[in-house]
Amino acid sequence: MKKKLLLAAAALVMYFAANAQNKYVYDIDLQNVENDRVKITLTPPDIKKRKAVYVMPGVIPGSYARKDYGRFITNFKAFGANNKALKVTKKDVNRFVINKARQLERIEYWVNDTWDDENIDQFVFQSGGSNIEAGKNYSINHHAFFGYLNGMKMLPFELHFSKPAGFYGATALKGRQINPARDVFTAPNYVKLVDNPVLYCLPDTTSFTVRNAVVQVAVYSPNKIVQSAKVAAYLQPLANALGNFFGSFPVSNYHFLFYFADPNIKLPETKGLGGYGALEHSYCSFYYLPEMENETALKSMIQDVCGHEFLHILTPLNIHSEQIENFNFVNPDMSQHLWLYEGVTEYFAMLVQLRAGLITPDEFQTKIRNKIAHADAFPAMSFTQMSRNIINDEYQDDYLNVYQKGALIGFCLDLYLTRHSNGRYGLRELMLDLSKKYGPNKPFKDDRLFNDIAELTTHNVLNFFETYVQGDEPLPFAGLFDIIGWRYSERENVDGYYFGSFGLGFNAEDAALQFIDVGQNVLGIEENDRLLKVNDTEVTIGNAREVLEPLFGAANRQNITLTVMRNGTIMELTGQPQLQTRIMQHVVESVARPTPEQLRLRNFLFTGKTGEGQ
Ligand SMILES: [Zn+2]
Repeated sequence: MKKKLLLAAAALVMYFAANAQNKYVYDIDLQNVENDRVKITLTPPDIKKRKAVYVMPGVIPGSYARKDYGRFITNFKAFGANNKALKVTKKDVNRFVINKARQLERIEYWVNDTWDDENIDQFVFQSGGSNIEAGKNYSINHHAFFGYLNGMKMLPFELHFSKPAGFYGATALKGRQINPARDVFTAPNYVKLVDNPVLYCLPDTTSFTVRNAVVQVAVYSPNKIVQSAKVAAYLQPLANALGNFFGSFPVSNYHFLFYFADPNIKLPETKGLGGYGALEHSYCSFYYLPEMENETALKSMIQDVCGHEFLHILTPLNIHSEQIENFNFVNPDMSQHLWLYEGVTEYFAMLVQLRAGLITPDEFQTKIRNKIAHADAFPAMSFTQMSRNIINDEYQDDYLNVYQKGALIGFCLDLYLTRHSNGRYGLRELMLDLSKKYGPNKPFKDDRLFNDIAELTTHNVLNFFETYVQGDEPLPFAGLFDIIGWRYSERENVDGYYFGSFGLGFNAEDAALQFIDVGQNVLGIEENDRLLKVNDTEVTIGNAREVLEPLFGAANRQNITLTVMRNGTIMELTGQPQLQTRIMQHVVESVARPTPEQLRLRNFLFTGKTGEGQ
């Protein structure tokens, strides 16, 4: 009897094993869209519990705000054998509780896209959201389409897309086309799934290789204004620069996914982040940018935005804390190191361009100076504390400072290490050492990182972190800039010749240079005047800096004549600069006679090369 029972049990186990499914299989029907909504069917993994909770994320990695992606799910239904409906209750906006879960065979729901969400308080910035435009474009960030069963997010995922014939799904996910109307993509778990969005449209792709990496570029441009070949040509020098900076790429393939929006379609009004921008992932980045005909403007936009996102392959991909490794999509515990993930990335985006000659040392200095001016607009606060609490409402407004003061922390730390090592070991070397110590599958402990850095460099660096990153003291620009022969002063009076007060902006929509923030001026410039010519030279975004800087600089004493367009009328404005004393804030300039020591350290920082310099 005993033997017989055992046999039965064995048979039972085998029976379960044969039928057990240890993965999620999603069917997504992109062919039959209804009101911008897509039907999704899930064959779930086997569930051993009486109740199961289907979870849509509240927060996702790389976006530091609560968005509640469950808001986009409707008609959620669960079925057992023979289409028997199972009872479902909602625990909250993101969680669906399924009763009699052991019987669960199928889940069905419809998903709406985020891009036309009318909830402006919780609007998902486009590059982190989803777009469903039947027969044209499907921009799929998986966290806005798919959920997971609580406690089972590390099981594999399989996505079966039915798509309009000829459509191509650009993604870093592994996958294959079954037939012209059907693709299958796979991911080893939910964290990896949401790290790899898909851009579906008629194909426009270009790829190139840089060192050990294949870079793929996919473009959707509704009016066919931007092509992938053009974008790839702009990205190539940047990718080369990154290759030189790293020595070799930490990834073997990388995907740039671009949605270029028709600039005539007004962006939704949103609170906080929204509009043009990008979201980084480990092996790809997703861009939501305006279509632009002006090539110079398009190129500079691509190089500015993509350098930063591409550099995220260093951090967080290769250097990240446990909080990111095993991201909690419901109530995330945030890492305190946004200064690293976003700040150092933003600083490196400038440094890489400097070292590759894509920007000049003067342009680099101007970028640093502008970061100081922009950081000034944010209140003093502990960066680690802000980072830990970033998804709380009270810290949301401070988030953008990660790209200002965060980048300056990176620059100052680089200067600090350069001085300490006497021009042998800077921030790049530290980051490469940290990525060797850790890596894509080996997170650091959040509160150990500063000690790790001290072990690799000097114990004294802990004072730097304590004072300027954990503490809220202003960064010591004057002292640190001095080591490379730069001078910083917070405010000073400067005598010079000026035409008055006005700014010049670039209106991307019309590709026009336009006067903004216009105050008193001797030329008679008015707000929104479009600048066409200075004296006899036509001014474009391409030559504006070169033409205008000498004329508007404090040393020019000559009359100038501007040709502007005001409300459709072309007119000439003439004036002579007036001697004035001005208060300049955040002056950063190179000293007239740097010492050989300063030049040597400057040379190390600007080129990455040790040695005697010029
Ligand atoms: Zn970033």
